[in-house]
Amino acid sequence: MNAAAAPDPSALLVVRELTVTYRVSIRGGHALLRAVNDVSFELARGETLGLVGESGSGKSTIARALLRLVPAESGVALFHGTDLLALSGASLQAMRRHLQLIFQDPLASLDPRMRIADILAEPLRVFEPQLTGRQRQQRVLAIARAVGLAAAHLHRYPHEFSGGQAQRIGIARALIIEPELIVCDEPLSALDVSIKSQISNLLKDLQRELQLSLLFISHDLAAVRFSCDRVLVLYLGRVMETAGCDTLFSAARHPYTRALMRAAPIPDPIAARKRRSAPLEGEVPSPLFAPSGCVFRTRCPMAVERCAREIPLLRQVGASLVACHRAEEVDD
Ligand code: ATP
Ligand code: MG
Repeated sequence: MNAAAAPDPSALLVVRELTVTYRVSIRGGHALLRAVNDVSFELARGETLGLVGESGSGKSTIARALLRLVPAESGVALFHGTDLLALSGASLQAMRRHLQLIFQDPLASLDPRMRIADILAEPLRVFEPQLTGRQRQQRVLAIARAVGLAAAHLHRYPHEFSGGQAQRIGIARALIIEPELIVCDEPLSALDVSIKSQISNLLKDLQRELQLSLLFISHDLAAVRFSCDRVLVLYLGRVMETAGCDTLFSAARHPYTRALMRAAPIPDPIAARKRRSAPLEGEVPSPLFAPSGCVFRTRCPMAVERCAREIPLLRQVGASLVACHRAEEVDD
């Protein structure tokens, strides 16, 4: 991980060599499935980092490991210099208020028997028990207003809301205890197209206003381009490329990043016409049978014999960090 070795001193979160393995049952026995393999990245205060990659690339597993919902096999995740992965008991509980999650399916994550006011007040009861009832009420009102909910909404139950409004509630619940880092796992994908841009605008406004750091997981490259400062491209649990959003969308260096972009729907018909043939052929192999060397090589149009032998390290090429032996030959 040479090129990524020196952590930026302004980073809020520094993840180094994170590896997460699940134990899975196969053929009556067990196997170890490496869902995240040696992943390193940093997140600065006020920055939005996109995690992209096809299904199964390990995006949600990274989020779950950071939030301590699944155990990491190895690695560190320094948050303000404290390793999240090593916390336990009271210190883990205390840390939880700084790290919140916004879910893909907002309705499923809201307790159907609770009124919105109580759903929003609950995190305050847990993390700020010293507040009086009146102070809690004020905080609930303020956060509701900030996400565009009316005071009248607070007396209703989750099923009375549309998907977009439910996601506003999910965002309010995550923000009410003023966390520093929010993990959004596909926050838009359950929403109607017309609602998507409203919610992504809301997230972006709140992120700027509150100087939040966001880990933004999404399949939707257009949403990533709109929301993110930097992007981490994952494939089979490994980082393929990482770069600033502008660099990535204008001059991606990894054949996988290129293929992902070509596979994405392009709204502009002229650009779509120019698009080259079949973008991403074949299927993602199971992590149980990950290819040797570069994990992407079995689907890579540029793969050569070296790619089967040698795992490419992340290294600086142009303005990107790229894990590809042939990154210099990927032309514009
Ligand atoms: P998606 O885009 O579909 O949400 P993802 O990038 O979030 O995919 P993960 O859900 O992190 O991917 O999964 C990474 C790998 O780990 C996959 O091969 C998946 O099958 C496996 N996996 C995920 N959760 C578990 C689990 N609880 N037990 C066993 N294997 C799991
Ligand atoms: Mg996922």
